Amino acid sequence: MAVLSLLLCVSIGGLWVRSRRCLDYVSVAPAWRQFVCMTFPGGLKISTWPDPVQPDGVQFASYEYGVRNAYGGWVDPPAVSWSKLGFDVRPLQFSNQDKPARDAVDLFVPFWFLAAMFLVLPVWRMVSLVRIRRRTRTHRCLKCGYDLRATPDRCPECGTATGVE
Ligand SMILES: [Zn+2]
Repeated sequence: MAVLSLLLCVSIGGLWVRSRRCLDYVSVAPAWRQFVCMTFPGGLKISTWPDPVQPDGVQFASYEYGVRNAYGGWVDPPAVSWSKLGFDVRPLQFSNQDKPARDAVDLFVPFWFLAAMFLVLPVWRMVSLVRIRRRTRTHRCLKCGYDLRATPDRCPECGTATGVE
């Protein structure tokens, strides 16, 4: 679990670096609702709206900023406000609509937050491994840290059987 979390953290780091240069895009559209997840420089924007135009599976795309594509168009990095540390929730409005669609939102999540979130578990795991190693080496109870040199079988403090040796 900690390893998986660390891998996720590393891939978020990779996306973070990429996000300055290009937009990565994933769209998932079951019949009832569309979800689109795309990177912006420094974060992820998750958009969702009901009744997808083309309800079909998963689509990936990637656009480099400022480079003309096959159709002669190009994508500019979106203007994103960092006043809320990169977080934001906005009603989603399509350019062909005069008001925001019902139940449609853009959710902005910064990469620093995602990276930190997935780093919690690996760091916590590492701290506990270091603690176990230190307690084993110094003959202390793994649970409470009580000195077990006099009572190697069971901790007199918390009652934990050591199980070692
Ligand atoms: Zn103990």
